[in-house]
Amino acid sequence: MSETLPPGRIEAFAAIVGARNALTGAADIAPFSVEPRGLYCRPASLVLRPGSVAEVSAILKLASQTRTPIIPQGGNTGLVGGQVPATGGEIILSLSRLNAVRALDPVSNTMVAEAGVVLQAARDAADAADRLFPLALGSQGSCQIGGNLSSNAGGTQVLAYGNARELCLGLEVVLPTGEVLDDLRRLAKDNTGYDLKNLFVGAEGTLGIITAAVLKMFPKPKGKAVAWVGLKTPADALALFNRARAIAGGALTGFELMQRRALEFALAYMPELRDPLPDTWPWYVLIDISSGRSQEDARELAEIILAGGIEDGFAGNAAIAASLAQERAFWRLREDISEAQRPAGGSIKHDISVPVEAIPEFIERAAPVVESIVPGARVVCFGHMGDGNLHYNVSQPVGADKQAYLAKWGEMNHAIHGLVIEMHGSISAEHGIGQLKREELAQTAPPVALELMRRIKAAFDPAGIMNPGKVI
Ligand SMILES: Cc1cc2nc3c(=O)[nH]c(=O)nc-3n(C[C@H](O)[C@H](O)[C@H](O)COP(=O)(O)OP(=O)(O)OC[C@H]3O[C@@H](n4cnc5c(N)ncnc54)[C@H](O)[C@@H]3O)c2cc1C
Repeated sequence: MSETLPPGRIEAFAAIVGARNALTGAADIAPFSVEPRGLYCRPASLVLRPGSVAEVSAILKLASQTRTPIIPQGGNTGLVGGQVPATGGEIILSLSRLNAVRALDPVSNTMVAEAGVVLQAARDAADAADRLFPLALGSQGSCQIGGNLSSNAGGTQVLAYGNARELCLGLEVVLPTGEVLDDLRRLAKDNTGYDLKNLFVGAEGTLGIITAAVLKMFPKPKGKAVAWVGLKTPADALALFNRARAIAGGALTGFELMQRRALEFALAYMPELRDPLPDTWPWYVLIDISSGRSQEDARELAEIILAGGIEDGFAGNAAIAASLAQERAFWRLREDISEAQRPAGGSIKHDISVPVEAIPEFIERAAPVVESIVPGARVVCFGHMGDGNLHYNVSQPVGADKQAYLAKWGEMNHAIHGLVIEMHGSISAEHGIGQLKREELAQTAPPVALELMRRIKAAFDPAGIMNPGKVI
């Protein structure tokens, strides 16, 4: 692909959205071309900001006719480079102006939100109707519903409510030809042929552009308890998880695991926050319980889980948040670990999942793998234990050269992902494939699955205009 578009092409696309919504200046395009970690930063040739589904449709029709590559972009918070150029010169189509909540129905517990609605705004809209939209991510102030669905986002409430995929009942999608698939159905039950919407969810913009979605809402919990528990080993955390799930059932809304080093990084990064426990433990879990009955019920459930865990020896010490502010502080210690790693220099990331019961074994086997590749590298392991999903990040050794360390990214990923595959896990639990893991998907996915993905891509996007260079 050339880095510049042929003469007249920019003007033709700009005419669809109007000059104000067609960004061509290098400084205007720059923020759309670089992703949060700065790993990819090739400039797009044009950023289009359509204001209607009809404009999206006209853009894709022209793109198909002229074989012009299009990259859909939401809040630009994706962590695998899916929303930014792969070669430079592509057109970025930003969904930010399609940001209306079209309908909200507290009886069917559904909301019809356009792709550009910021996740926090969708949560606020549900809240205003005394409902819960449970998708919760560290990036929720910026990421958008279209991006959430296209990346099948996970986050901290998956244990109880599922990934973005489980929260979506219907979609409106513009196909690469410009045709509009209106599947905005609000049905809990619908067995009429292939489930087309689920091909677009998690497709990372490679099959079409999501313009709106029917989202599921839930009754708002009446009570909440958040506990911070110190433990000796990941095996103890697993035992506590089984206990918590048996006692709380669907009321267990979060079960997050953290290594002591992760907490130390978070405390150093946010000096205004305190270590929740007076003593030190090698591992911690944050337990989040939501009761549909009352505050007392939530607290009682937490107390029963913790008392049993301490009595049986797999929980060391524990604190239950005594106020909303303390709940927030506990959650911030968990949510900001990634950011807190920045001052420690380069960090090589792994967003993996293994069957929940295999988490202790994975942690035990992964540490010597890391040490063999970069002696002294510091594992910062944390994640959504209840979903079997770990962010197995590895910070550079103290005093090491950042660039030299980051040059080990591929080798480290390859070795850790090899272990994950051996343990029947996933090399991308929630962030997707994008550009970052494209090669590894090709190397690790079953050949029949890869071939099916290629055929689906060819059937939906024969001109190959949708987000080329991503996923497959
Ligand atoms: C601080 C931080 C915390 C995070 N925490 C989590 C977490 O806990 N769990 C998690 O899963 N992720 C997390 N993420 C990653 C990211 O926020 C999610 O992947 C999010 O869902 C991306 O949404 P977005 O609107 O920013 O999409 P973008 O980054 O803009 O795009 C993501 C992908 O979707 C495609 N896309 C975007 N909009 C559309 C559309 N309308 N139609 C078709 N394709 C589209 C893009 O082409 C790209 O491939 C985090 C990121 C940050 C920076």
